[in-house]
Amino acid sequence: MNASDEIIEKGVVVIEGARIVAVGHDALMSDYEFEEMIDAHGGIIMPGFINGHGHVSMSIFRTLGEDIPNRLQRFLFPLEDRLICEEYVRKGAMLGIAEMILGGVTTFVDMYYFEDEVAKAAKEMGIRAIVGETIIDRIAPDAQLPYEGMIHAKRLIEKWRGDEWITPALAPHATYSNDEAHLKEICEISKELDVPVLMHVSEMTYEISKFREAYQMSPVQYLDHIGVLNDKLIAAHVVYADEADLELLAKHDVGVVHCVAANAKSGRPVSPVDEMLKHGVMTGIGTDGPMSGNTLDVIGLLDQVTKVQKINAQDNTVLTAREVVEMGTILGAKAIHMADQIGSLEVGKMADVIIIDTSRPHLQPIYDYYSALVYGAYPQDVVFSMIHGQIVMKDRKLLTGDLAQIIKAVQKISGKIKAEMVEM
Ligand SMILES: [Zn+2]
Repeated sequence: MNASDEIIEKGVVVIEGARIVAVGHDALMSDYEFEEMIDAHGGIIMPGFINGHGHVSMSIFRTLGEDIPNRLQRFLFPLEDRLICEEYVRKGAMLGIAEMILGGVTTFVDMYYFEDEVAKAAKEMGIRAIVGETIIDRIAPDAQLPYEGMIHAKRLIEKWRGDEWITPALAPHATYSNDEAHLKEICEISKELDVPVLMHVSEMTYEISKFREAYQMSPVQYLDHIGVLNDKLIAAHVVYADEADLELLAKHDVGVVHCVAANAKSGRPVSPVDEMLKHGVMTGIGTDGPMSGNTLDVIGLLDQVTKVQKINAQDNTVLTAREVVEMGTILGAKAIHMADQIGSLEVGKMADVIIIDTSRPHLQPIYDYYSALVYGAYPQDVVFSMIHGQIVMKDRKLLTGDLAQIIKAVQKISGKIKAEMVEM
């Protein structure tokens, strides 16, 4: 996934500590004395996938209240208000992180409540993460007052800034749930402390009508108008975007994260992803929370991303398999403003490396590696994962957590959620 999209047959990646020190043909091996050699057995060695948007702890709500109107208002928000606590956030995060590591994700971007728990779980399980504390104009599970998240966010940033695995962030929930003054303040803090801003942007129909009625603008135009579009912002969804919006997003180096599964399941219009790429908008892929998108791996979304674009355009040439793999790796890294560190196997970058086992019937034969990954691969085909030079999964076994215990803990929580629902 380097700038020339180089594919090396019989390739070798040399890693020292947390970084990649050489990439090349197998002849390279004679140049190095190595302590350990991992044989990929002819599989695909590639950069780990980047899940650019999600709420990993919401794994505790997975499959709850599906396919009914107003499911968020009817179930999710009341359950969050009544039940969400540090323990649930931590245990839900551990389940989601286990799933991501087993599915080849090496970096994820998260926004939720009690986000310090997500950061701790990520660090403990050895996965790279951007963690944003939610800031919202109402009381929330970890906020007794509107905008109390500002205080928690500042504390989170102070605690984690400079950490090698964890990048703390500010996460104003959405364009419609933060006022102008707070959005501007958040923008200033992010510039001053050099941390990202995570936000849901241009996702909801009521969001579009709100800004049209109040300002005769789109949400993206409004954000530009108040001066908060910049290279710190990571905008999730952007389902609704016209030509002018795309030009603004590209001009201000805003990262966009496309959440195909969550948007499709919610019955939203198709996000103009093909147009985004043509306009030079840095666009990655996100799962969204497991209540919206259900699964947290990126491989399972690759074919959805392109197929939805192809259906919408009624044209099989839009958004090629290669472009989609880029969205899951290097373009995703650009979208979250970390492309200098991750997203490709290049000298000097962090050693976030996965191996896809290609000796499987659904992956043979291979004429095109991108097609194999996008149209054929399952997350279960990932057989090895290294993050920051540390092996976190080998032969499909999670090495940084007790999977059986993690699942059991969440099953216990789901029992309490079911009991709470009886009273709703
Ligand atoms: Zn979301």
